[in-house]
Amino acid sequence: MTNCLFCKIAKKVIPSDIVYEDDHVLAFSDINPQAPQHKLIIPKKHIASLNELTSEDTLLVGQVIQTAKQLATQLGMSEGYRLVSNCGSLAGQSVFHLHFHLLGGRALHWPPG
Ligand code: AMP
Ligand code: ZN
Repeated sequence: MTNCLFCKIAKKVIPSDIVYEDDHVLAFSDINPQAPQHKLIIPKKHIASLNELTSEDTLLVGQVIQTAKQLATQLGMSEGYRLVSNCGSLAGQSVFHLHFHLLGGRALHWPPG
């Protein structure tokens, strides 16, 4: 997707604070952190949101979530963290390239609102 912010980040056209990368997955710091630790984990493949997932993406999404778990451990948050994907504008999605927010480093409240 030529005009997608996170595709540009995945291709390093736009710089980011990368904390993990492999052939299929990228993780980087959120530019506007909502917690002491706030990383975004994305598939490099352009998928607009959870709504656009197909059965072909099942392994890829598993790799994204495994990356989140590993990062949470590396960042010392295995005692408690949140992994969330906002799907659709009503849920607050502002970048339409599938991403998971990994949040932690403080007590997290529920419901999130
Ligand atoms: P969402 O609102 O769920 O779509 O999340 C998009 C997230 O992307 C927000 O938390 C933004 O702070 C974050 N964001 C936007 N632009 C950048 C950027 N250039 N680098 C890192 N994070 C960004
Ligand atoms: Zn994209």
